[in-house]
Amino acid sequence: MPGPGYYWIGKEEEDEVLDVIRSHYLFRYGDEKDPNFKKKVYTLEGEISKKFGCRYALSVTSGTAALIVALTAAKIGPGDEVIVPGYTFIASMSSVIACGAVPVLAEVDDSLTLDPADVEKRITPKTKAILAVHMLGNPCDMDRLSALAKKHKLLLIEDSAQSFGGMYKGKYLGTLGLLGIYSFNFFKTINAGDGGMVVTDDEELFKTAFSFHDQGHLPHRAGVEVGNRSIIGWNFRMNELTAAFLLAQFRRLDKLKDGLTRVKSRYKKQLGGIEGLKFRKLNDPGECATLLTVLLPTADIAEKVCAELGTKPISHSGWHVYNNMEQILGKKQLTPGPPFQSKEFPTNVEYSKGMLPVTDDLLSRAVNISIGVIDAGLGSAFGVNPLSSDDEIDKKAETFIKTVRKYL
Ligand SMILES: *Cc1c(COP(=O)(O)O)cnc(C)c1O
Repeated sequence: MPGPGYYWIGKEEEDEVLDVIRSHYLFRYGDEKDPNFKKKVYTLEGEISKKFGCRYALSVTSGTAALIVALTAAKIGPGDEVIVPGYTFIASMSSVIACGAVPVLAEVDDSLTLDPADVEKRITPKTKAILAVHMLGNPCDMDRLSALAKKHKLLLIEDSAQSFGGMYKGKYLGTLGLLGIYSFNFFKTINAGDGGMVVTDDEELFKTAFSFHDQGHLPHRAGVEVGNRSIIGWNFRMNELTAAFLLAQFRRLDKLKDGLTRVKSRYKKQLGGIEGLKFRKLNDPGECATLLTVLLPTADIAEKVCAELGTKPISHSGWHVYNNMEQILGKKQLTPGPPFQSKEFPTNVEYSKGMLPVTDDLLSRAVNISIGVIDAGLGSAFGVNPLSSDDEIDKKAETFIKTVRKYL
């Protein structure tokens, strides 16, 4: 099952999508004066940048595309290193590789996001950027990461694919760094099946990102622009149907966050005060509340508890742990690799199972309880959903407590 946006899909989505279908016009560009051109992509970009308080928003086809566009706009390429956490979705690493640069893996701390102290240890003369991944809806320690970036003259880029709508110190995640990205894939906060977005306050970065996402055209291309293309770009454009659907999802963001917060606080309250059970650290209460992550004293206990509940500790859950990424560990770069600067996996940095012992220990003891994202691949097969009644929440919390108490 998917992310929280799924649970509220309704008439608003139908109306928005029908508006586009009835217009017969599905392309993101059009004549502003043509009543059949519904401007859904432009409207989505405008509404998101307004609410999030950033100057520019650029819609693309996926979170992965958004990462490639953002890193390219930041001119990250061959010879550069980018520090990424060992606990993230593979796109945080593969997008760096796609640009011909090298992902350097760093430890997470008990927030399950980048450990700033470990990040600092991994900075070399080649380091160009830090990719702050707000994992499971929870912000990174942005104050410390920003200070590090400033001190060492590094770019700070936010992978907010799992944290659309989350906040850090009153600012929307994705808008604190130089560039931020979002994903609108099925499993994310709001979704249209697939989709993505890049945000920034920097005009030059926006122009480059725009050009790269659309065949080198500058914003906002108007017809055939021979002579005006600044670079050779690709095509990562969003279409009107996707944007129409997302508009309906986006306009419900506050309601969605309130719903998640209600469910999570009720669940979490009941798990409070149990000896030996800790919650992961939240770097800001403005997190998305899509998951409740608990830390148990040992891997053995976590495994036993999970087996009874029909789930798995994060370390065993699937995709998001570097130890489970055979394509990274084995450097299985397609030759020639996309997009295409490099024929070989561009690194002599070595990756191996167990290379991040702190991360390994934390993830082996960590259990994700679903609040809004129900995804076995994320380790959140057990839990509740955003529409669960108080009664359901209490029952599921009770089941968890009973199971955990057997082993603590
Ligand atoms: C999902 C995800 C992505 C990639 O987004 P897609 O839309 O699936 O391409 C990137 N980073 C993180 C942390 C993600 O969870």
